[in-house]
Amino acid sequence: MKQTTRCATMVSVLLMAIVAGASTPLRAAALRVGTAMVDITPAEPVRMSGYASRKDLSQGIHDPLSARVIALEAGDERLVLVSTDVLGFYDGTADDFRRAICEKYNLRGEQLFLCATHTHSAPTPSLDPDKGHENNVRYTRQLREKLIDAIGKALEDLAPAKMGVGVGHCPIGSNRRQRVSDSQGDSQIRLGRNPYGPTDKQVIVLKIAAADKPRAILFNYATHATCLGPGNYTISGDVIGLAEQFVEKIYGAGLMAPAFAGASGDIDPWFRVLPKFDEREGWIPEPVLLGTFLGEEVVHVAERVNPSADDVAIASAFACLELPGKAAGTVEAAQDHPPTPLNLTVARIGDVGVVGLGGEVLTEIGMAIKEASPFAHTLIITHCNGTAGYLPPKNLYPEGGYEIQTSRFAPGAAEIVIKRAVEMLHALKP
Ligand SMILES: [Zn+2]
Repeated sequence: MKQTTRCATMVSVLLMAIVAGASTPLRAAALRVGTAMVDITPAEPVRMSGYASRKDLSQGIHDPLSARVIALEAGDERLVLVSTDVLGFYDGTADDFRRAICEKYNLRGEQLFLCATHTHSAPTPSLDPDKGHENNVRYTRQLREKLIDAIGKALEDLAPAKMGVGVGHCPIGSNRRQRVSDSQGDSQIRLGRNPYGPTDKQVIVLKIAAADKPRAILFNYATHATCLGPGNYTISGDVIGLAEQFVEKIYGAGLMAPAFAGASGDIDPWFRVLPKFDEREGWIPEPVLLGTFLGEEVVHVAERVNPSADDVAIASAFACLELPGKAAGTVEAAQDHPPTPLNLTVARIGDVGVVGLGGEVLTEIGMAIKEASPFAHTLIITHCNGTAGYLPPKNLYPEGGYEIQTSRFAPGAAEIVIKRAVEMLHALKP
């Protein structure tokens, strides 16, 4: 995947904002929330994302793609969380979209979490006619306008609200780093299934109610949305999008269920890369089945949560970290290799910490941040505000495998990210 090459220029301004933010006393204030949802299903065939082997344009739509926006306000502080059913904001679109959104609504960079659910059955975004298919460029321009418009609607919709948090577990994600041996007895790590490997099965649910009615059920779960795969040409939100749609169907009109992909760089759904929605002889297609299981757990958790917090502290901070880098395609890092940047955005909403990582973070890293977080609950969001590619923990480099090979980070980068994320969370909870 294409990545950013250096910290964007708006970042130096944002780094100063961290210092200012950290020294400001954090006061709780009345919570106000606004929501908006917009259909982003492509209107014409598009080139799809995530697999270099998939060259043709999409053929038909199984289920709609959406962008879901939650705007939160407490006192003078705002936070805008955007969940988008696309692979990621690649090809410079993260910086471009963020700049346009922040300018239009006078947001500081750390107040915006622009996130992708990482469905591999969605268009590849691009604003560059030399790189993207003309249909994709047209789609991406419309996507930018739709997101700007939806964020405006969510901000206009701000009204008194209450929130509550619950935690469940869902087994649909599995560690995918499988050790495979050949006839000579040599072994290597392949993309497969490794049920013995670390997998974060936590489902964190944030339930928001206004006028005593549930308005939004946000959930955070770590899996790739890759049940379909390179052989699939049908547009779909895959397991994550199908879970969002399940929750919205159960609760009915007026409720929105945005998903935020957790640290899932090495996590795939148990069924992976099946090209079709197979319905023969009453069979439930695997993406629908797994999406339903995840959606069921979200509903199950949400039913037990009674939103009662109406006075919360909101705060956020941003840093672009210049981390030890290496070339993609190698395992060893050259001594003089330039650093690889990664955008790190953290926030608090009452006693909920939020960590947005601008890359594809392996699950061990998310689990380590959660473990050391000073907050009762911490959402880990990957594919947020940037696309720096795979970030593996140091101990996996000697094993090799796809995520290590393609990573642009050298061993030790992940450990710096964990330390900084935890420090930034602590600074928001003095
Ligand atoms: Zn991925």
